[in-house]
Formats: sequence, C-alpha cells, structure tokens
Amino acid sequence: MYSDKVLTGIKRAEYIYLNRSEEIFKIKQQGKKVIAYFCCYPPLELLTSSGLVPVRILGDIKEPITEGGKHLPPIMCNYIRSCLDCKQKNNYDYSDGVIGCHSCDGIERTSHIWSNLAKPESFSFFLDIPHTLNKNAVDFFVLQLKYMKNALEQFTGTKISSEKLLKEIELHNKTRKLVRVLYDMRKLDPPKISGSDLLKVLVAVMTVPVEEGNALLIEVIKEVNNLNTAKIGKKPRLLIWGSIIDNFEMIQLIESSGADVVIDDSAIGTRSYWHDVKLDDDPINAIADRYLVKVECPCSFKEAKKTFNADNENRFGYINELIKDWKVDGAVLYIIRNCDPHGFEIPAIKSYFESRGIRTIILEHDYTNSSIPPLKTRMDAFIEMFE
Ligand code: SF4
Repeated sequence: MYSDKVLTGIKRAEYIYLNRSEEIFKIKQQGKKVIAYFCCYPPLELLTSSGLVPVRILGDIKEPITEGGKHLPPIMCNYIRSCLDCKQKNNYDYSDGVIGCHSCDGIERTSHIWSNLAKPESFSFFLDIPHTLNKNAVDFFVLQLKYMKNALEQFTGTKISSEKLLKEIELHNKTRKLVRVLYDMRKLDPPKISGSDLLKVLVAVMTVPVEEGNALLIEVIKEVNNLNTAKIGKKPRLLIWGSIIDNFEMIQLIESSGADVVIDDSAIGTRSYWHDVKLDDDPINAIADRYLVKVECPCSFKEAKKTFNADNENRFGYINELIKDWKVDGAVLYIIRNCDPHGFEIPAIKSYFESRGIRTIILEHDYTNSSIPPLKTRMDAFIEMFE
C-alpha cells in the first residue's frame, strides 16, 4: 500500500483521485473550511479569496444509486442523481457548505435539495446563471457574483479586497496555464500523457488547495516531459465532446480500443481551463466575462444566425481550432442518458464534425460501471473504421 507522502506526479494525482475524502479530511485538519461546488460556473477565485478550499462535486459510477433516487426521479441524468446519492451516503460530510448553480435544470434542483439536506450551520449559496450571453445577461451575472461575494464575506467574516481577489485570479490563471501545458503535450504523436491519466490529474487539482494543485501540476509536467513515449503504429486521435466525464473508466475504455484521446470539449477538461481571467479590468467584471461568456457549453445560447451552417460555425467554431491543433481524426459524442443540454445538441454538433471530415460515434451511457463493457464493442467497431 502506498503512502501518499512518498508519491509524486501522476502517482500522487492518482492517489488523490482514489482517496478524495481522506485527502480533504487532511486539509480540514489544517483548520481550513471546504466548500463543495457544482459545475464550471462558480468562480473559484471568490472562494479562495475567502480562505475557503473549493472541492468539485463528483458522482461515482461504481456505486448503485439508492439514496439519491429518493429525491431525484430516474428521468433525470444519473450523474446528478449519483452526486446526491454520494452526499446522502455521507461522502461529502467534510464540506462546510455548497455553491449550487443553474447550469442545467437538474443541477439547479439538486443544488436546492442539497442545501435543504445540509446541516443548518453550513454555508449555502445558489449562483443563478443566465443562458444568453448579451449585455443584460452579463450585467445580471455580475450582480449574482456580487451577491456571492457578500454571502462569502458574511460566512467567513473576512472582507474580499480587490487586491486579494487579483492575487487569487493570478493563482488560478496559473493553474489554467499549467493545465494547458499538459494539453499541449498531447499534440504530440503519440501524446505524452493519456486521457485517463490526465483526468485523474484534473480531478486531483479540483480536490486540493490551489497552491498545492499548482505544485502538483508542475511535478506532473516535469515527469511527463521526461518520458520517452515510443510510437507503435498509428492510432486514431480522438476528441471527446459531451456530458461530464468524472470517472476515468470511460476514457480508459476508449483508449483500450486502440485510440489516443488527445483533446476534449467537456466539463472536467477544456471548459474548466481554457480561458484566463483578464487582469486589466475590474476583477468582478473580468470574472463574469471568463466564467459566463468564455465558457463554451450547450447550456448557453448564442444569437441565432440565418442558416444552419452559419449558426453551427458561430456555435462550434472554437472546435475547429481543437481539431486542427490536436490533429483530430474522430470524435466521440458522449451523452449521459437524460442529459438534455447535450442530447439536444447532438444533431448540430454531429453535422459540424462531419462537415470538417471528422467521423463521429455517439456513446450514450447510463453512468454505471456495469454498462461500460457493452460500449467497448461499439468503440472497437468505430476504431476499425480508421484502419
Ligand atoms: S450531465 Fe447534463 S443533465 Fe446531467 S447535470 Fe450535467 S449538464 Fe445537467
């Protein structure tokens, strides 16, 4: 059995990934307060400026949903039902509060149930998120961020000064930059780090304090840089687009079919790390711009264009950069069953990839471990098409 003290780099990230609660309880023993949060939208800078440690809420595909099902019906996506199930089974007992948000209806509903089930003394804030990106929407989001700042100041008794906030923005920008360095290492053929290892690293970074996460990323980059990765034949280079993937087994399945997962458009991936917060603006305005306008997610609508193709270009043009820079051959459109925001997007996104000459496969997953092996047969058949 490993002790985490002797582990570094990817092994240390894997240890944190596999032992999240244990790691977070260690953080709490240092007197720190931990706030659980949903999705890519709550600004981490506001939380760490208050001296709090943000921890991303994740589900568990290995755990049958028994308790979560008492509050959320099966017509909702199993990821969000699993998150609530984990909370009901005391997996989030370490948290001193929660930041909920409205990125989709399922997350909104779960955020409120989560708060109602929490201990009365714990912190709870609901971040309302507009789903358009016009000026009124940005102004509304700025107001929500100010409410969030006030609520955090009241909970911690500590004022969040602009200077402190700018310092934290720099720290989080550093995290995002380091993650992008790791992504750049996957431009190589073969990529220097697999998709499943990268996911473990990202989950670890979303579990520990920001400075610790940055130190871990520096270690991982150094380790990966020194690796000699030998090329064994040509493997198709895949992009994964879609619903959240927070368990590495799904990516491992795709890679075990003989593909390299080189890039993603996903919530624990590029959507969380692709853009920095600008430092030359009022910090709250700059945070609103980064977290609302820059995050590309099917939960946000853009002004419709006159034709289907023009609309697709407007909505998915950013993906073309990923296709070119990471030399993508194929795309996995990954949907958690009953995920409406991503499910409704499938016809348009599929058409967009195909218009770029990129083959696609739609993988629908019920967010259980046992349903992964049958998907392998379909993945194997997809990979054969590249031979
Ligand atoms: S997977 Fe889809 S439906 Fe489920 S919480 Fe995420 S966006 Fe909402």
